[in-house]
Amino acid sequence: MVCPLCKKSRTHILTRVLRDGSKGDVHFCPVCELGILNGKDTEQELKKFYAQEYRKKRTLTSYAEPERLFNIYSKFQSDRLRLLKPYFSKKKRLLEVGCSAGMFLFHAKKHVKEVVGIDYDESSAHYAAKKCGCTVYTTEISKTPLTKHSFDSIVAFQTLEHVRDPEAFITELTEYLAPGGVIAIEVPNLYDVLAHVYDLPHHWKFFYHRAHLWYFTQKSLESLMKKCGVRGKTHHIQDYNVMNHIHWVLRDEPQSTGVPGLSAPVFPFKQGAPTKTQRALSHFITTADAEYKKLLADHHITSNILFIGKKKHV
Ligand SMILES: [Zn+2]
Repeated sequence: MVCPLCKKSRTHILTRVLRDGSKGDVHFCPVCELGILNGKDTEQELKKFYAQEYRKKRTLTSYAEPERLFNIYSKFQSDRLRLLKPYFSKKKRLLEVGCSAGMFLFHAKKHVKEVVGIDYDESSAHYAAKKCGCTVYTTEISKTPLTKHSFDSIVAFQTLEHVRDPEAFITELTEYLAPGGVIAIEVPNLYDVLAHVYDLPHHWKFFYHRAHLWYFTQKSLESLMKKCGVRGKTHHIQDYNVMNHIHWVLRDEPQSTGVPGLSAPVFPFKQGAPTKTQRALSHFITTADAEYKKLLADHHITSNILFIGKKKHV
């Protein structure tokens, strides 16, 4: 397979089986460090897959789905906010593409003049618009009335890996940046410790997803951004906590829900256990979690990578 970044065919296969057991070859260019899904899905089939997935989620939890998403993920926007806040001000406009139920926009809107969202899922978009008191479009950016060169920050979290043509996607987004504006792109990290360092055969299959058309590392994400004329820096962000990873290591399976893994790690204390002991144990696990996350970041093996950069004007 020809690598779209270097245009050479030096790829080898990473996996032939994806998360739901469906067939799909993930090729890997070792020079660019880019994973490429050669899926069997056509555009039409992928749309159907998304629609079915969303329907499935909705029947499980009735209408609460966007609200549930919001409540789970709203608490875990602090890394993104910390890294992006230096670029925000009360005079600036922010656009989020793939804003889901609005969990980032909700926190970010306090720091900017105006927020706007885009998300193809109608119910999430509707929820986000209401929750954040802003406009959320459900079409591609070129079909919205948004004007070019009008946003000071454009962010897209966990979206690029779903897009057919990442280079065209980034290039188009940068056209909506005001002079000096920043673009922030977050994707899952192919070098995630669970997939790349620990020997966990079930996680390996769990990691590769039918809807993820691309797998990036710091190197491939930076090469892509450079190709689009964007210069900047990659930050390493870890979402799941140390207890979730120990669960994976011991059992080679995910926890029954994502909530405890995404929350601060806690021990299940018996009622009446000495307060002082509880406090000391809680301090231990909080410190251990922070140290673990720092170690993963130092070794570039976190779950996510977030690139923040500016378009280089010629
Ligand atoms: Zn390549």
